[in-house]
Amino acid sequence: MASSRTFKQELVGVFGFPVAENPTQAMIEPAFADMGLDWRYLTVEVRPEGLADAVRGARAMNWRGFNLTIPHKVAVVEHLDRLSPAAEAIGAVNCVIHRDGALIGDNTDGKGFLQSISSERAVAGIRAVILGAGGAARAIGVELALAGAGHVTVVNRTAERGALLARLIRDRTGVPTEFALWEGKYRIPEGSDLVINATSIGLFPDIEAEIPIDLATVRPGMIISDVIPNPARTRLVREAEEKGCIVLDGLGMLINQGLIGIRLWTGRDPRPAIMRQALEKVLAT
Ligand code: NDP
Repeated sequence: MASSRTFKQELVGVFGFPVAENPTQAMIEPAFADMGLDWRYLTVEVRPEGLADAVRGARAMNWRGFNLTIPHKVAVVEHLDRLSPAAEAIGAVNCVIHRDGALIGDNTDGKGFLQSISSERAVAGIRAVILGAGGAARAIGVELALAGAGHVTVVNRTAERGALLARLIRDRTGVPTEFALWEGKYRIPEGSDLVINATSIGLFPDIEAEIPIDLATVRPGMIISDVIPNPARTRLVREAEEKGCIVLDGLGMLINQGLIGIRLWTGRDPRPAIMRQALEKVLAT
């Protein structure tokens, strides 16, 4: 019997190692289907020593692009043709676009965060406190500064890593950025507009783990953001809501970064509600 189904599917995907826990496929394939696109998003386990071949393979098979997760976000840079200004400043790539024969590296982690916050207030002039200095903190810090933040404080328990990130943001963007060593309960400086948990504290299964901040310094009207996507309603999110803060959860950020990736690959916007529904099915929210 004749079928109307086309057998030429466009391919995108994610390279990681290991990849068992990666939920991205769960939200991206339903978004493609909802958009009427016969595209596949493949989750591919790539060992570090196989990354160069995997990238060559994606290029040879004309993949439209791919995501990178741990441990490939920095290592992939040398296999690409060029980087977006943000990926260049961040020094890490989580999204590659294959356009006109070139592999272009971008970073959507921080952009996903920016999209979340822009629904609440303008970033220009904002005074931000970032808890953590890993990959997520770096992406968020650079994007916030590039978007015109007025001041950034990086708070981290490991001094070297925290000081390095503060210097990177200051040198790359010119935005005044300071480092604060995280010892005991951190007191959020008066005048802060935005506090972001960019550590892994609170990630499933350690969902009741407490972020060492002095809750008395969390004031009504502050924007409190948590990068933890699973669960979406972290302890910090719940406590900040009780304090009368504006709250941004990590699930929204994850959906936004997926949405931005789809936009970069297809030139079209998916429906975020479809992606949230699909993700909530696989995450312990
Ligand atoms: P990294 O391992 O690169 O960095 C982790 C950071 O958390 C470090 O600064 C580390 O401090 C700090 N940290 C961890 N445990 C503690 C603790 N008990 N007390 C104080 N500081 C702590 O991880 P990533 O930046 O890649 O990821 C962080 C989180 O962000 C993950 O949970 C990930 O799921 C989430 N994420 C969410 C995204 C989204 O779209 N929602 C996108 C990307 C990431 P130190 O330097 O001292 O070790």
